Amino acid sequence: MRHLCQDMSRCCHYHRGTEGGSMKNLKKKKWNEYLWILELMYLVLGLFNILFAWLGMIFFTVPLLIAIFGGSKAYCSRYCGRGQLLDLLGRKFRLSRNAPPPRFLRSRWFRYGFLVFFMVMFFRMIYSTFQVFSGAPLSKSITLLWLFRLPWQWPEVGMAAPWFAQYAFGFFSIMLTSTILGITTMVLFRPRSWCVYCPMGTMTQGICTLKYKKGGSDHGRESKTGS
Ligand code: SF4
Repeated sequence: MRHLCQDMSRCCHYHRGTEGGSMKNLKKKKWNEYLWILELMYLVLGLFNILFAWLGMIFFTVPLLIAIFGGSKAYCSRYCGRGQLLDLLGRKFRLSRNAPPPRFLRSRWFRYGFLVFFMVMFFRMIYSTFQVFSGAPLSKSITLLWLFRLPWQWPEVGMAAPWFAQYAFGFFSIMLTSTILGITTMVLFRPRSWCVYCPMGTMTQGICTLKYKKGGSDHGRESKTGS
């Protein structure tokens, strides 16, 4: 429990630090404060070759491993490039209205409901991969916001097995969709409003809660809205 509290307190320090411009400039930046560059590179590389989408599995597995074995949300507070990128765009580039996110977005039913929806879509993607593995044709398209299918003809996927490429198309669709949602809520509300309902944050929070048998605790989730 002590580790969790320390991590959450670091998380709050991080966000407070990003607000205090002059103090921040005095601090020497650490390597993990540049992880937003990796996030950006990932999104760009996927546009050139869809197979780079597989690298996104790192962003999926590392937070879960840290939560399961470390019992903390250290990934969110220290290593999440997406959170940093949203912070940068919202604060430094002033793209955020900096308004409080609506109550429903912060509610438990919405966060867990969105997680369930996200997982259903994730398993649907696994099923499509399995279908291609079983002989169905590869669908060379990216689906944005689970609705809009964009043909994606130019990435080179010839060197990979069709099911391997299918998974990459599906996974990159999820990553682009969550980026669009993150940027939209960053513009409309506070820079890191996406963190309030991010499925990865909900999962790691749930794991930490279960691990420390602290039902009902929010573990300061709202602190990631930048408030
Ligand atoms: S809640 Fe999601 S986007 Fe925010 S810091 Fe955690 S993993 Fe990153």
